[in-house]
Amino acid sequence: LAAGCVFCAILAGESPASFVHRDDRVAAFLDIRPVTPGHTLVILVAHATYLADLALEDGRRLFAVGQRVAAALRESAAAGVLRCEGVNFFLADGVAAGQEVFHVHLHVFPRFEGDGFGLRFGPGYGARPPRDELDRLAAALRRGVERQPALE
Ligand SMILES: [Zn+2]
Repeated sequence: LAAGCVFCAILAGESPASFVHRDDRVAAFLDIRPVTPGHTLVILVAHATYLADLALEDGRRLFAVGQRVAAALRESAAAGVLRCEGVNFFLADGVAAGQEVFHVHLHVFPRFEGDGFGLRFGPGYGARPPRDELDRLAAALRRGVERQPALE
């Protein structure tokens, strides 16, 4: 648990939260400023600031709980508890990406027609780079991916 981390404080029971899931490695609780009702944050119990600090297995656990939450949101909509016609996963890694709490967290939230949420694209969005540029970039990224720990 990291001092000054609001999520670690929740895990320690020092701050309130409405839990959706909790096990010895992963926790999920409702966001106090939901994009839509049911907006859930999935975190690892072990404090990690950025994605790069996570072991592959931890990322796998985080995503797996996110999948279970997404399924629960859809089932809850079918039961009339909330509205959920689709689901977004969102993870902000780094300040430039919009990260505000520096304990890795996956947002899982319901979407429905007219919910008002949207992504805003930059002015260059929509232009299609030439294929050779895409191929060059893909080759560089492939080398980067190959340097990462292997998937079992
Ligand atoms: Zn933390």
